[in-house]
Amino acid sequence: MERNYSLYPLKFQPIYKYRIWGGEKLKTQLNKKYDAQNIGESWEISDVKNDETKVINGTLRGYTLIELIEKFKVNFLGKTVYKKFGNQFPLLIKFIDAKTPLSIQVHPSDKIAKERHNSFGKNEMWYVMQADENAELIVGFDKKIPTEDYNNHLANNTILEIMHHEKVSEGDTFYIPTGRVHAIGAGVLLAEIQQTSNITYRIYDYDRVDVKTGEKRELHNDLAIDVIDFQIKDSYKTKYTKECERREEQNRTKRSKDEYWDNFDLEAFIYDEEGLQPKNYDSFIQILRGDFLQEQQEENSGDFHEQYRFQEYKCFSKNKSYEDTEENSLYQL
Ligand SMILES: [Zn+2]
Repeated sequence: MERNYSLYPLKFQPIYKYRIWGGEKLKTQLNKKYDAQNIGESWEISDVKNDETKVINGTLRGYTLIELIEKFKVNFLGKTVYKKFGNQFPLLIKFIDAKTPLSIQVHPSDKIAKERHNSFGKNEMWYVMQADENAELIVGFDKKIPTEDYNNHLANNTILEIMHHEKVSEGDTFYIPTGRVHAIGAGVLLAEIQQTSNITYRIYDYDRVDVKTGEKRELHNDLAIDVIDFQIKDSYKTKYTKECERREEQNRTKRSKDEYWDNFDLEAFIYDEEGLQPKNYDSFIQILRGDFLQEQQEENSGDFHEQYRFQEYKCFSKNKSYEDTEENSLYQL
């Protein structure tokens, strides 16, 4: 007899990635459990080919995102997202621990990524979860520079001098559209929401050698040069208000099924591995939401990331309705 599956808060097995710049904070701050060294990224929700995260709890254990979409279609993705992306899961969600800086990099737009790599482009968004004293992010340029000057700085390894450096602390949020040159600095732990894409053009890598390969990592300046946005902005930081109280209230109030899915189009549930409280967070689960909001879409049509907000749900802390159970009425269809 066919089982009557219902959707419930899904836990996914993260995929841990060695990175030349990775540290230990995924363990020490987020309670992740793995043995390897220099793990810089934990891919929490991923539909990237060959790196698909799988469900690890309940009757849907073992399912990948694409299998969930095929099975539940609009009920899994919500109307807006399903209409726009069909059987593709549009987001990739990671935690990133930079013990040393990441390369200075840039990502291509959807259009260029499609032409060159048959892939999505990669808008991304950062939410700083913890930062050491004086830790910083690099985002955009500080002043307008001619291409020739830019090339000179590249050739002389002085590109850092013309980049905008920003000291950060927990809660700071940055939206990084494609074309904006950026890098995560040493001592920053952040959550990253981005498009499902693996296309990065590395511009500068501090001349460092990867201990695993004994070689410097490849740079992609030929590809990068015509995707870089040289425009200057007064501020590169994104205004962000924690909306958890309001959202929690909304969740408690009774909603019809349609209302539920209109407003909860795309959800990513991120737990630590035992469903326990990640250190430094007062929630027993950490939920990050990519939320395609109607009003945002109208304001900023065409811009992928402006269409959703990055939300943090610390206030669900002791809410029993989030326990890992299929009988969780809040999540039944
Ligand atoms: Zn990036």
